Amino acid sequence: MISPNTIQQITSRIDIIDIVGEFVKLKKRGTNYLGNCPFHNEKSPSFTVSPVKEIYKCFGCGKSGNSITFLMEHEKYNYVEALRWLAARYNIEIEETETSPEQKILVQTSDSLYAINHFAQKFFSEQLLDSEEGKNIALSYLQERGFRKEIIEKFQIGYNPENRTALTAALLANQFNPTLLPKTGLVATRNGDELVDNYRGRIIFPIHGNTGKVIGFGARVIGKSDRGPKYINTPENEVYSKSKILYGSYFARMAIDKADECLLVEGYTDVVSLHQAGIENVVASGGTSLTTEQLRLIKKYTQNLTIIYDGDSAGVKAALRGLDMALEEGLNVRLVLIPDNEDPDSYVNKVGTTAFNEFVATAKKDFIIF
Ligand code: ZN
Repeated sequence: MISPNTIQQITSRIDIIDIVGEFVKLKKRGTNYLGNCPFHNEKSPSFTVSPVKEIYKCFGCGKSGNSITFLMEHEKYNYVEALRWLAARYNIEIEETETSPEQKILVQTSDSLYAINHFAQKFFSEQLLDSEEGKNIALSYLQERGFRKEIIEKFQIGYNPENRTALTAALLANQFNPTLLPKTGLVATRNGDELVDNYRGRIIFPIHGNTGKVIGFGARVIGKSDRGPKYINTPENEVYSKSKILYGSYFARMAIDKADECLLVEGYTDVVSLHQAGIENVVASGGTSLTTEQLRLIKKYTQNLTIIYDGDSAGVKAALRGLDMALEEGLNVRLVLIPDNEDPDSYVNKVGTTAFNEFVATAKKDFIIF
């Protein structure tokens, strides 16, 4: 918990012109400042900031608040994250108050899981880009599928070697707590107490939380291997709750804001391929079928959702289910089905960005269901 003393220090230092001005171009107008509202589309500015009252108000859409609510609204921070952002900006050291033993363990566990995930992500990236095995087996496969190096690096895609304990040994050598390793899903227990890598020989898609930290992974078989399921995903733990995250949201949120539209696809590779094609307002439900919580996350950014699923029978079924749920959440939903046994990933690679965008724009009209 952040101490009341620290909160007091932060709030006394806040300069709302400075904070809002970081995100909105403001011009002085009398005692107030004026700019284009970041919360709705407008051509003439009606977003007013008062340095005296320390508040902002938009006369177009009615949004109003103070510096902290601005950060929560604009950056999608929660209260504590907003305070931490402000503390960092004003070089205020955060003093934490006593927490209960249960809270302490939870925080410690979460911090450890983040640290393990961070280490593992770096390890997987190095294996993919620098090791012979990674380059020969995994990187060549990704490149064959059309992924370029920049996009692989942006999404921090990696590779877990075939060796039974490649990652486990590196984690243990770096003093990570062995009892926490299985919680991350990266490491499994065999024969009682032996620790081994869980994602051997798989391509690794890190899943980023809203602040960019790695909270989990999707591990995919290479090619059409019949070794186990196509994807293994992180189990539920202190930092990863699959129904409450959207794959790609960390990279997509600015583009979603700007387009005022979110594209929803099914898979990790769909998100990455569309980003590579310059279509960045896209997220995936990832290792789960779409949940109401995920739709509520989308609603924080935009009211306009376009579901882009495969046109096969499983895709149609999933799309119709998503459509129903999204309508129930009050979103404006449109549906696009990708033809001819393709998915968004393969289709954008086949036809290119312009044709893909045109297809989505036309198909969208055809599939409006109201
Ligand atoms: Zn507004």
